[in-house]
Amino acid sequence: MKIMKFGGTSVGKPHRMHEVATLITKDTEAKIVVLSAVSGTTNALVEIGNFLMERRKEEAKIKIDTLQEKYNAFIQELVSTTDAKHKAEEIIKEHFEFLNIILRISYNEALNKDILAQGELLSTKLFSVYLTEKGIQHQLLPALDFMSIDVNDEPQVDTIRQKLNGVLANYPGFVLFITQGFICRNARGEVDNLKRGGSDYSASLIAAAANASVCEIWTDINGMHNNDPRIVNKTIPIEQLSFDEAAELAYFGAKILHPASIWPAQQYNIPVKLLNTMEPEAKGTLIQEKAASLGVKAVAAKDGITAINIKSSRMLLAYGFLRKVFEVFEKYRTPIDMITTSEVAVSLTIDNDTALPQILKELESFSTTSVDKGQTIVSIVGAEIAVHPNTLKKVFDSLQNIDVRMVSYGGSAHNISILVASGQKIQVLQQLNIGLFGLH
Ligand code: ASP
Ligand code: MG
Repeated sequence: MKIMKFGGTSVGKPHRMHEVATLITKDTEAKIVVLSAVSGTTNALVEIGNFLMERRKEEAKIKIDTLQEKYNAFIQELVSTTDAKHKAEEIIKEHFEFLNIILRISYNEALNKDILAQGELLSTKLFSVYLTEKGIQHQLLPALDFMSIDVNDEPQVDTIRQKLNGVLANYPGFVLFITQGFICRNARGEVDNLKRGGSDYSASLIAAAANASVCEIWTDINGMHNNDPRIVNKTIPIEQLSFDEAAELAYFGAKILHPASIWPAQQYNIPVKLLNTMEPEAKGTLIQEKAASLGVKAVAAKDGITAINIKSSRMLLAYGFLRKVFEVFEKYRTPIDMITTSEVAVSLTIDNDTALPQILKELESFSTTSVDKGQTIVSIVGAEIAVHPNTLKKVFDSLQNIDVRMVSYGGSAHNISILVASGQKIQVLQQLNIGLFGLH
C-alpha cells in the first residue's frame, strides 16, 4: 500500500482535482490518498475563528458567506451531472450550516478546532463526489476515526495503526481510500489538528501506521531544491536526501515539507518522495535512510529568529551557569535553536518569543542580557559537511561583507548554521548559491 498526499494548491482548483484523480488511478497499487483543504480555506477559517473569539460576529458571517460562494462556484466546474451537483451542494450546505450554527454559540478553543476542520472535510467529500461521478471506486475514510493525539497532543503510531487497521477491515476488496490530512481527535475525544501545514505530518503518520511502501508528498514544485527558489534566480532540485538531511532542511526553513513529518517515516523506514502535480514525470526528491553522497546539498533560511546574549554577572564560566540558563527556557517551554558560548557569555536563538519577557526577567536575576530581533538562521545542510574538507572555507569565502552574528558548527555533522540580520538574508542566499553551488 502507498500513501499519496496532495496539498492545498494541488486541490485548489476544480481542474487540479481532476488531475489528482488521474494521478491516483495511474497504477493499481492499493493507496490511501490524503488531502489538504482547498488552498486559502484554512486561512479563511482561522480568520473566522478569530472574529468569533473577538465577538465580531458580523464580520465572521461575511467571511463564512464569501467562502460558501467560493465553494458553490468551485463545484460548478468540479462536477457536471445534475446528480453529482446536487450531492456536492448538499455537502456544502451541511458544512456551512454547521459554521452558521457555531456563529450562535459562544466561542471556545474546542469549537475553534471544529471550525478549522471544515476545510479538509469539504475537500475530501467534494473530491469523493467527483470520483463517484467518474465511476472510480473508492472509500472515504474519516480521519477522525483513526488519527489521534495523546494527552500531550502527540500522535502515537501504534495507536493510529490499531485504529486504522480496524477501520480498513470494514472495506475488504477496496484499493483506493481518501482521507483528510491535518485533522485528528485529541485525548478528550474532541476534534483537533496537527497544527498548520500538518497534512504532511498526517501522511507520514499514516504511512508509518500502514507500513506503506512509500509516502508521496505531491506539491507544486519539483522536490526540495538546493536553495530557496523564491529568493535566488537559479536553483536545482535535489534527487536524493537522507532523513537527517531532510529533517534539518525542513526544520531550518525549507517550506516544502512540514518538519515533524520526517520522524515517523524515519523511525518506520518508509521512503518519502516529494513530487510535482504540475509535472508528474519529474523526478522530484527521494528521502530515505542513506545519503546519496557526502557534502553540501542545500541551504535554507528561517526568519523570525530572536537572538539573546546572556552574560554572567559572575563568570569566568562558573559551572552551573549553563544549566541555570537552560532551566529558564525549559520552564517556559521555549526551544533553543542555535547556541554559541564564549568564556563570559552565551548567545542563543529562539523562534517562539511569546514567553520572552518572562524569560528575560528570570535570566536577569543572574545575568545581563541583550536581545536582537529580526534575525535569520541560514543553514547549510549536507551529510557529513562538518567533516567534509573545505566546506567551512567555502562558506566563509562566500560570506565576505556579511555581518555574521553567530556560527554553529559541529553540533550536527550535517549542518552549519549562521545567524544574520534578516535584511541580509537575500544577499547571503545568493552569495552561497554562487560560492557553494556555482549557480549564478
Ligand atoms: N489545511 C491545513 C493548513 O493549511 C493543513 C495543511 O494544508 O497541511 O495548515
Ligand atoms: Mg504544506
